[in-house]
This record gives sequence, C-alpha cells and structure tokens, in this order.
Amino acid sequence: MAKQIKQIDIQLTTQKKEKPQQDKLGFGVHFSDHMFIMNYAADKGWHEPRIVPYQPIVLDPAAKVFHYGQTIFEGLKAFKTSDGRVLLFRPERNFARLNRSNERLGIPAIDEELALEALKALIAVDQDWIPTEAGYSLYIRPFVIATQPALGVDASTHYQFIIILSPVGNYYPEGVNPVKIYVENQYVRAVRGGIGAAKTAGNYAASLKAQETAKEKGYSQVLWLDGVHQKYIEEVGSMNVFFKINGTVYTPALSGSILDGITRSSIIQLLRHWGIPVEESVISIEDLFAAAKNGELEEAFGTGTAAVISPIGELNWQDEQVRINGGVTGEISGKLYDTLTGIQRGIIPDPFDWMIEVEI
Ligand SMILES: *Cc1c(COP(=O)(O)O)cnc(C)c1O
Repeated sequence: MAKQIKQIDIQLTTQKKEKPQQDKLGFGVHFSDHMFIMNYAADKGWHEPRIVPYQPIVLDPAAKVFHYGQTIFEGLKAFKTSDGRVLLFRPERNFARLNRSNERLGIPAIDEELALEALKALIAVDQDWIPTEAGYSLYIRPFVIATQPALGVDASTHYQFIIILSPVGNYYPEGVNPVKIYVENQYVRAVRGGIGAAKTAGNYAASLKAQETAKEKGYSQVLWLDGVHQKYIEEVGSMNVFFKINGTVYTPALSGSILDGITRSSIIQLLRHWGIPVEESVISIEDLFAAAKNGELEEAFGTGTAAVISPIGELNWQDEQVRINGGVTGEISGKLYDTLTGIQRGIIPDPFDWMIEVEI
C-alpha cells in the first residue's frame, strides 16, 4: 500500500481557494483545491498517477469523448465524524463498478487498489474541504474520458482518469420530504444489451429531455419504463426504486438495463437484516397502479448516493395520479434514511463493515 502511494506524485497548490459558506454549498458546484489525474496510452498502459492543483484540462477538439461519448463516471461520498475521523462508504464497490462500466465502453481497466489509494491520498490533501455538519459530505466524482484526437469510430488509444471532490450540502435542504414522480411514456432511457447498466454519460444525455418535460409539469423526476414494452418499471432518474406492497418490499431485478446501485444493494441487505421481506422482481406499472388504487402500495422510495433515500409521495402515469402514504414519508423509508446516514456519519454501529477509514 505505502509503495503505491509513493508512486503518486503530489504537486500542491500555492493558491488555496476560499471555501464556500457551509449553508450555501448546493450540490456539485464547488470544487476542492486538488484533483487526481492519470493517463493511459495504448503503448504504456495507465501511467503518471498524480495529484495536482484543481485546474482546467486542455483537450484537442477532436478528442473522442466529445464525438462518441466514450466516457464513464462514478459517485461516492466521504464523511467527517464528530470525533474528526474521515470515512468512505463502500468505495471498493464504486471502483469495481467503474471497471464494469469501463469494460462495457471499451475502456481499459484501472487498478482498483491504486484508484482507492489515489482517492485516499487526494482526500488527505484536501481534508479541510470535508464539511462537518450533519447531512453534509464530500462528494467524490471519479471519471474517465477518451482523449485520442481522431474521428474514426473505434475505441480510443488514449484516456484520462480524473477524480474531483465537491463539498455538498443536504440534498434536500428542507429535510426529507416525498417527491412527485412522472412515469415516462414516450421516451426510454436504455434497452437490454445497451449501456443502461453502465454509469456513462449517454444514459443521462438520453434522459434530459424527458426530465425537462416532467419538471415543466411540476414533477421532480422521471420513472423509466423498460425500453421494449414500456410496461415494466426500471429506475428513477439517477436512483433505483423500491415499493412496499402488502408488507413486502419490491425492487426491479438487475435486468441489464438498470444501474446496479450501491445504495440499492445496501438497502436490500439492511431490510433482510431487519427481517423485512425483500424481492428483486419484474414489476409492471399496471400492477403497481392497481396496488396503489386498492390501498396495498404502502411506501415508495428512490435510492442513490446523492439523496440516499428519496420518498415518493405521488406518481403520475398517463395522466392518472396516485398518492402514496398520504404524501408523507413512510416508516420504512424514514428508518432506512436514518440508519444509512447514521452509519455513514459514524454515529450508529456499522454491522456490515461498510465504512472505510481514511488516514489523515
Ligand atoms: C449512480 C446511479 C444510481 C445510484 O447508484 P448508487 O451507487 O446507489 O449511487 C442509480 N441509477 C443510475 C442511472 C445511476 O447513474
């Protein structure tokens, strides 16, 4: 481990930025003083891992990422506990998924141990940027871009792997309140065999238009149906989705077109630990609406790194609206939020050894 850290060259900034006010952080708009960067060339492999002052990157206008979207990303968080320790939530899962996304996009694999060591070294350098207030954290965005300047349609010969850090406030400044979700009927996000299971820009590019339209109608996010029949539930925006029906919690099975969320798998593990039945299954939107109408749909929520748990208070499908749990946060949703965020902040026990401490 120590040997690998030595491989990472560290160039410190001489001009530290002014830190934003904690109560005005927002999400992903402020960035720390440093970034990690590593290059790939077909003849050299991944090389020159280094921490440098946060700065713009200069790319040739023909760089493949701009034309063919050969790029992938990750998202995770670091937390500072009240006794000053720095914790990461299941980071090894993010780097494993980074490589699954890499593999799908034809990008060469990255040494996952080196990536984690690089992240820890970067966090140690920028540790003053980790907010301390409850609900606040340091959002971490690792990503890979194809940099070869060539317009031929094939996998790039050159890449950059970069990690940037952004102090973030509470995703919902007014507290966890249920959101209204629009079930998308016209557009689809991903199809089986496509890139829906990879964390890559193209899936988001495909989703923006529907997201805009839903916002105009007063909904905060879109619920995606499957790309073939537009019948089965997939996921919500940048979140996986769960429904509690008649005491059992259901979530769409990993079909190949949805993302394998780390929050999703943690929620499944927690529910099983509590003895609450959970099923990964195929859920049709028709059955869901039928359950809502006859009072069997007890709770619904989205899960993802940014918001952790996002209760759903209303669904709109084909101009029909259903309210869930009277539009207020359900018992399980609230308990999951409190437990997961409590584990992340180091204030309640971590029975699954999810948290990794960063030496600072
Ligand atoms: C990142 C992401 C999620 C959530 O994954 P987590 O690992 O829980 O943050 C869900 N869906 C999509 C499309 C995503 O990009």
